[in-house]
Amino acid sequence: MRLYSRCCEKCKKKVYFNIVFNSREHLRGYFNSDAINLLCSNCNTINIKNTSEVHAEPSGRTVFFGLASGFFMGIFVVTCTYDNWWLVYGPVIGGLTGFIIDSKQRAAAAFFNNS
Ligand SMILES: [Zn+2]
Repeated sequence: MRLYSRCCEKCKKKVYFNIVFNSREHLRGYFNSDAINLLCSNCNTINIKNTSEVHAEPSGRTVFFGLASGFFMGIFVVTCTYDNWWLVYGPVIGGLTGFIIDSKQRAAAAFFNNS
């Protein structure tokens, strides 16, 4: 997951953190304050944000990556074993793995947002 603060004061883009915290409490503890200096990577403006303005979002779509890598893994196994079912198993395994990773990301982001 990634942490961000909605809109930079100057360019109005989302400002992302390069570090991740599990909860707002960790964030507050790290900066030792509720006010955070956040450098916008887009326009280099320093934004002063409150920890309550920081939100988490799950990063990436691991499901699609899992499906694709599972598909290629399937092709590889088929060429070794001549078992064509691996064209089905591969994407299923990859997709499921990606789905589990995505759900964990979503849960972690929800936990942060509720903290
Ligand atoms: Zn900016």
